[in-house]
Amino acid sequence: MATTFQEILDRIAIIDRDVSELNRLKSRLPADRPYSPSLQLSFDKQINNLLNERIGLMDLGILNPPEWLLTKKEEFEILSGSRDESKPDAASLSGDAPSEQLVLDFLRAIPKTEIHLHLEACVSKKTLKFLYEKNGNPLTDEEIEEKFNFKDLMGFIQVFFFVQSSVKEPGDLAYLIESLHDYLKANNIIYSEVFFAPSKFIQNGLDFDEMIEVMVGKIREIKTLDGTDIRILVDVSRSFGPENAMNNLNRVLKVRHPEVIGIGLGGAELMGPAKDYAEVFQVARESGLRTVAHSGEDDGPWAIWDAVTLCKAERIGHATSAIQDPELVQYMKDNHIPIEICVTSNVFTGKYVRKEQNHPVRYYYDQGLPLSINTDDPVIFNVNLTYEYFKLYRFLDFSLDEIIDLIKQSVFATFHPNKEELWSRIESEIIKVAESYEYTPKLPIAIPA
Ligand SMILES: [Zn+2]
Repeated sequence: MATTFQEILDRIAIIDRDVSELNRLKSRLPADRPYSPSLQLSFDKQINNLLNERIGLMDLGILNPPEWLLTKKEEFEILSGSRDESKPDAASLSGDAPSEQLVLDFLRAIPKTEIHLHLEACVSKKTLKFLYEKNGNPLTDEEIEEKFNFKDLMGFIQVFFFVQSSVKEPGDLAYLIESLHDYLKANNIIYSEVFFAPSKFIQNGLDFDEMIEVMVGKIREIKTLDGTDIRILVDVSRSFGPENAMNNLNRVLKVRHPEVIGIGLGGAELMGPAKDYAEVFQVARESGLRTVAHSGEDDGPWAIWDAVTLCKAERIGHATSAIQDPELVQYMKDNHIPIEICVTSNVFTGKYVRKEQNHPVRYYYDQGLPLSINTDDPVIFNVNLTYEYFKLYRFLDFSLDEIIDLIKQSVFATFHPNKEELWSRIESEIIKVAESYEYTPKLPIAIPA
């Protein structure tokens, strides 16, 4: 889509004005009223949408760009006082202040991994429309758009139900995997671990083994097609109770496909404390499955302690509240327990972090905690992994070298059977891409093997 340069400038001005106004109103909310959390969520959601839109504006094609933008860049820089004699030309990232567009292009072009992704949240609106039509319940674009235009946590959960309701038979999951593949390709994600939550589908009468067969078949097809690696972590889910989780685990234990690598504990954290699932984790661990848990997203550091000590989860999703407990931060560092960071998602949930600039990822990184960068729910939050990395650069003062270090850390946080080999493949590709941007990455931190 192309738009005029002036329209883009005007829109940015409006977005900046609205964001500062929303922040001002949010700061005046009383903290202790029953309605406060939901109002705060709604403010955060609006602010987040605006910031995403602002980033998205940089991807638009410019209709009839002003002459100076094409031919008089240097002159403009002198006029605007931004000219720096040492600053290289536009194709280079080696200067002090490369354009944000250039950074975004670079981040998109380099290979990455992602390991905290929910399958339902990767389905494109196009695929949803197709599935609803195929299953005899056609919807207009407007009706689908309306579902995604949610304002609060309840609306967010409704989107999940909406996606789950599009699946009527195991074969439909092939389309979900295809949609996930499109997302991975668009962001050059070459290896991913995705959560598949079967409970709702099983409740709707779908057979677990058949669903796994369909997904694994599609995953193998994709691997043959272009080498993209997808692995499944079955979300045993805390929303349906420990007994259901154990049933889900028993189903996973019967699966013999190497693409299904382990279990995750997702769902409403406050309704299902990790300690209630210690036995499920123990059985999984003793059976050779990999284990991860969402924790410290909606509950305090004590919940993370339970997830790492009682459940012995190998990675923790979110852990935004860990910053409150320096001992816990030290424990996770000493025991090499990576945190799956999801900045956009945490700002939306808004429990422990209200804006990107305040996200604890900067603190965790400076403390030397192993990290991985992720989107959680890309289609639902209208975000992607490229933007997540860009947000670190834009809002959290991460240099490009540090971002590449994070891409490396993200590789070593995966359950890939040969991380050294995967990283060396990614590293040589990064060096190649960086060369075309006249940039030589320096990796500041050695990753423990
Ligand atoms: Zn998640």
